[in-house]
Amino acid sequence: MSLDEHKKPSGNGNGVALSTQVAHRLRLNPSTDHKPDSYEDLQSDFSPLLFSSLERYLPPSMLYLSREAKIQFMRDILVRYSPEGERTRIQKHREYRQKIISNYQPLHGELYTMNAVNFFVPSFLKAINEKTDESFRSILVEPTPGVYVFEMFQPSFCEMLMSEVENFERWVHDTKFRIMRPNTMNKYGAVLDDFGLETILDKLMDEYIRPMSKVFFPEVGGLTLDSHHGFVVEYGVDRDVELGFHVDDSEVTLNVCLGKQFYGGELFFRGVRCDKHVNTETQPEEILDYVHVPGRAVLHRGRHRHGARATTSGHRCNLILWCRSSVFRELKKYQKDFSSWCGECRREKRERQRLSITATKLELLKRDGISAS
Ligand SMILES: [Zn+2]
Repeated sequence: MSLDEHKKPSGNGNGVALSTQVAHRLRLNPSTDHKPDSYEDLQSDFSPLLFSSLERYLPPSMLYLSREAKIQFMRDILVRYSPEGERTRIQKHREYRQKIISNYQPLHGELYTMNAVNFFVPSFLKAINEKTDESFRSILVEPTPGVYVFEMFQPSFCEMLMSEVENFERWVHDTKFRIMRPNTMNKYGAVLDDFGLETILDKLMDEYIRPMSKVFFPEVGGLTLDSHHGFVVEYGVDRDVELGFHVDDSEVTLNVCLGKQFYGGELFFRGVRCDKHVNTETQPEEILDYVHVPGRAVLHRGRHRHGARATTSGHRCNLILWCRSSVFRELKKYQKDFSSWCGECRREKRERQRLSITATKLELLKRDGISAS
């Protein structure tokens, strides 16, 4: 579609466009019984899911138009509301990823399609198949509230993933391709989504992490995880050595040690906090120091404050999957002062309750005193 055609429906130079817009005003509430079209195949700056969601808000008269007509109408709305800078950034990133994928030759093709039996340990697979609170509880330990530890990957999978990352790093080095590192804190490591593993990590989130998060983290959007950022971090004396105290840009984080031989590198946790309380004191019961074991996973809320101590010798490699929920992020904007998942918010609430009970008791005592006299 040319840009001119694209702009036609919102043309504001004539009165007709205005009246069309009034007639085509979006609904205030989504039509819940309308089943939207699938836009998965759409090559657009916007996510296919966004189109499907927006379709439910279309005026009833538009719901039965052709898919093309709906796309044009919705794209026009999205273009008007999404900032130019953000669109350019998304487009640039898509081109960056495409350039890598069309040039990089994978070493282990079998990593790029899900093969659960070869990837996961049997106990984990069994729990996932049963999908119950009890089955998950039976394979994990919770060393501090909100941190879940369980056996996840087979040694052969860990080795294969590490050698694929090494192969990718070699390619980056040989071709002098300038890659983006996983986040602002790590100088080493690679974004797995950027070199072809996005689909499999999506599956990992959808079919394995979301069912667990639904049970353990419902209050931070565990049921509605719908996007991810997947990467590998590398620690050692010649890599990143340690990682400062921080929270993740995720609702739920999966952190699996892949290997290899190393000393140090403990993960330390210090309680879950909301934005307002992120720098408040740690309570003694919130302290956890965890030692990584290859193949073993740690699952926690993104807002669970943590860091990694120095890896003093050897080389440590971890797979990190930041899982996000767009619904939770949207709702958070309207949230009031209290977060049920924040340790400090809960402490403040208990303190308020304690004060109010004390005040009530005093009031009663006073009243009794008056009636007795
Ligand atoms: Zn709080």
